[in-house]
Amino acid sequence: MSDNTKSNTPPSLRTDTFGCVRCGLTVTTFSPDGERRDHCPSCLYSRHVVDQAAGGPSDCGARMAPISIAVPRDGRWAVIHRCVRCHELTSSPVCVDDNQLVLMRTAVRPLAQPPFPLEAFGDL
Ligand SMILES: [Zn+2]
Ligand SMILES: [Zn+2]
Repeated sequence: MSDNTKSNTPPSLRTDTFGCVRCGLTVTTFSPDGERRDHCPSCLYSRHVVDQAAGGPSDCGARMAPISIAVPRDGRWAVIHRCVRCHELTSSPVCVDDNQLVLMRTAVRPLAQPPFPLEAFGDL
């Protein structure tokens, strides 16, 4: 029995969900503010389903790990993902209900592990 008989509008994408490839959370495809999302709001992992270079669907399907935060000109944070299998990089806007602790942890990671001694700044 389908709900389609109740209205002429197609089934809303807003009820679509996907399962997080890392933590198993069931994630709604649209965030509360109506943005389409491609990563888990809890652990921020994504899945490699879009080929960024070719602009089409990707058949990779592997996990994409959140490795960094970028701040584009509009000031809104974007999560940089890297595919664990083919190492392609993607960026996607942060959603309102993304895990803020994980976002901060990802953002400060380079500062916590500098590739040079921070003592050098003491002499400036
Ligand atoms: Zn997750
Ligand atoms: Zn991939």
